[in-house]
Amino acid sequence: MLHLTDCNILYVNLYPHQKATHMHEMSIVLGIVKIAETEAVKAGVEQFAAIDLEIGNLAGVEWEALDFAWQAAVAGSVLEKAEKRVHKIQAKGQCADCDHIYEVFHIHDNCPKCGSFMKAILQGKELRVKSLDTF
Ligand SMILES: [Zn+2]
Repeated sequence: MLHLTDCNILYVNLYPHQKATHMHEMSIVLGIVKIAETEAVKAGVEQFAAIDLEIGNLAGVEWEALDFAWQAAVAGSVLEKAEKRVHKIQAKGQCADCDHIYEVFHIHDNCPKCGSFMKAILQGKELRVKSLDTF
């Protein structure tokens, strides 16, 4: 079994202020299929057995919409038979005023230690194809 890793970073902070829609998830899934097809050509395989995705909770992805788009988008592609494994990444921010690192559940969350809204997002906006497994 071939295990391809770190294929590509798909989108980082794609549409931070856009309300998630089914169209949004569809374009994400089509981007994932495109990456998988490129990797399939490189690896010389017709189908993948599994795909691992890492998705941050600030990536703006709605899980139900993603699943809905997935079923439609992978039909007839190299991902048609692939098991989709989603690894959710909990967002973390570092306070710009006191350096405290804390979990961020909403982009406008503030520091629980000093109350500041100024922060650097350390993780949680990512959406990446982590790996692909062949049969
Ligand atoms: Zn702080």
